[in-house]
Amino acid sequence: MLLLQLDGRIPNLALMRLAAHHQARGDHVELGRLDTIRRVERRLLEADKVYASLIFERTRPFAERLLQMFTASLGFSQRGCRLKCPFCIVGRKEGAVREEQTITQLWRGEPWPRHLLLLDNDFFGQPAWRERIQEIRDGNFKVSFCQGINARMLTDETAEAIASVRYSDDGFTTRRLYTAWDNRKDEARLFRGLEALVRYGVKPEHIMVYMLVGYWPGETAEDRDYRRRRLREFGCKPYPMPFVRTPELVGFQRWVVRWYDLVSSWAEWQAAGYNPYGLRLYDAPPKPPRRRMAPWTQARRARQLARLVPVLGTHGGARFQADNVSLGKRGGNSSAYRVARLKRDYPYVAEALARGEFASVAAAWRAATRSAATVPWPAASLGGSGQ
Ligand code: SF4
Repeated sequence: MLLLQLDGRIPNLALMRLAAHHQARGDHVELGRLDTIRRVERRLLEADKVYASLIFERTRPFAERLLQMFTASLGFSQRGCRLKCPFCIVGRKEGAVREEQTITQLWRGEPWPRHLLLLDNDFFGQPAWRERIQEIRDGNFKVSFCQGINARMLTDETAEAIASVRYSDDGFTTRRLYTAWDNRKDEARLFRGLEALVRYGVKPEHIMVYMLVGYWPGETAEDRDYRRRRLREFGCKPYPMPFVRTPELVGFQRWVVRWYDLVSSWAEWQAAGYNPYGLRLYDAPPKPPRRRMAPWTQARRARQLARLVPVLGTHGGARFQADNVSLGKRGGNSSAYRVARLKRDYPYVAEALARGEFASVAAAWRAATRSAATVPWPAASLGGSGQ
């Protein structure tokens, strides 16, 4: 159960009562204080039932958006699983396979779209799967088997049934089937199932295969890479799922999920710190040439500045604006600031600049601040300013 408190700071009494009720029934209850649609969206898929409560009128649009947000029909046509994988909680939580709801009962009806998000863990484990498939076909539903189908146990009949429906990802935008390859010992059975799907018309690239990594004792990097390679060769999408989130396993997941395994080796990816920026996949683009002002523009601008910029204040450093000329917000290198400094500290250079005797403000600045031996002074100014 997910209980959403959409506003208010003190605990919401209605939600507390619901929590007590469900806890007494033995349900797992979680309380969420979620304030954005994106955060709510992430949690919605994890819960069997969601209650939301609000007390302020201003939160109403958020609640209405929440109602509209999830348009698919969500639920279980069956519970439980035929298998008892040691790392999985389904067997303990749901027990043996039992039927739950028909497709007609699951669909929310008009005007909701014909989108079914099935949370079943073992759809083909239920005896009445043929009737459910028939309902999906007859109703022309898009169906997402978002918890995965067990490819190891597929037969020709079940593979044909899957290929005959409009299977989709959980956002109902892409054709997608989910399955898993958790143990290398299942290789032959898994690929028999995958081949059956392809035989009946499922494209390999529609199939996403979750790979459990970091669970089995003695698992090696070679084992992980072997499964990844086999799935890539088959044409489906491997998706590693680390059982423990060590940097290496999370790095492996990122390497595969983001397709870096197609452009780099595992050794290169490790050397890059599991980070694409360390890969140096491409040569850095050449730096664009620095744009320089034409010399005559520089000279004209220098004369203008010398005319317009006021003298810098006695204590220096002040930035001010005058006649639309900014002295710049930082540092003493802007042209306007230098002109203001020249007017205060080297008025004879500023006068020469205003007369057009320097090609740029920078040239005037150099002449004023460096020794006369290294920077040539314009011939026209020699002896003209009393220096
Ligand atoms: S097949 Fe899937 S759902 Fe069933 S026990 Fe194994 S991991 Fe869990």
